[in-house]
Amino acid sequence: MRTPVPEVLLRSLSKSFTGTRGDRHTVLHDVGFTVADGEFAAILGPSGCGKSTTLRIVAGLDRADSGELLIGGRDVSNVPSSERGLGMVFQNYALFPHLSVAENIIFGLKVRRVGKAERNERLLEAARQLQLEPYLDRRPGQLSGGQRQRVALGRALVGGSRLILMDEPLSNLDARLRADMRTEIRELQQRLGLTVLYVTHDQVEAMTMADKVIVMREGFVDQISAPENLYALPENAHVARFIGAPP
Ligand code: ADP
Ligand code: MG
Repeated sequence: MRTPVPEVLLRSLSKSFTGTRGDRHTVLHDVGFTVADGEFAAILGPSGCGKSTTLRIVAGLDRADSGELLIGGRDVSNVPSSERGLGMVFQNYALFPHLSVAENIIFGLKVRRVGKAERNERLLEAARQLQLEPYLDRRPGQLSGGQRQRVALGRALVGGSRLILMDEPLSNLDARLRADMRTEIRELQQRLGLTVLYVTHDQVEAMTMADKVIVMREGFVDQISAPENLYALPENAHVARFIGAPP
């Protein structure tokens, strides 16, 4: 069921960083887009164009200088990350090497003082969704890349968030596994009805996984459209070149 309010709304977000010589450089210029409830949106663009900064602002790990950010219709500019009701998956997975798979998955629940019985129940549910039951006692170092990826997904899902942010989650995997994981993440998203904001520099990932692609370049949004339209109707030569569409 789709709500009329977009799950995520960014309007005119701008952000600049101070360089080593005290100079300011703007890395986001008036970035705006929405992600509907249950939609898979991909931010696509070359390295350095501002994808991670945008995601970090949505996550509450960084702040915009100006603009609006609503999650579930609520202004979250002053809401801490842990209270934004979202899960995150990063490129390097950020798993704790000395903790078991189970402990890694429930780490955030422990921090939030969720009781043991409920932790266990949620752990088993996440493990079932991700086919991780046989690996719960292992350590991350004893897992394959794909299994580690699933643990990171499990940790993002176990808190019950329906909004998941992913920053280049497949970039450490080899090509074959990457293709499998694309399908797996997309199936999981559809099965659980998740809202996903996914960051990638990989055109194939964006075009095959997303309902909507947000193309970024040098800190601004170049085009927002369904993958098939992006290829057929690129808005300008930059998009066409980046997508590999005919000019
Ligand atoms: P992407 O994820 O698309 O590769 P980023 O959002 O990481 O791009 O970076 C966008 C720009 O902002 C880059 O020029 C980067 O060097 C700069 N940047 C990102 N984070 C910081 C920071 N903490 N301090 C200074 N500059 C930063
Ligand atoms: Mg990045």
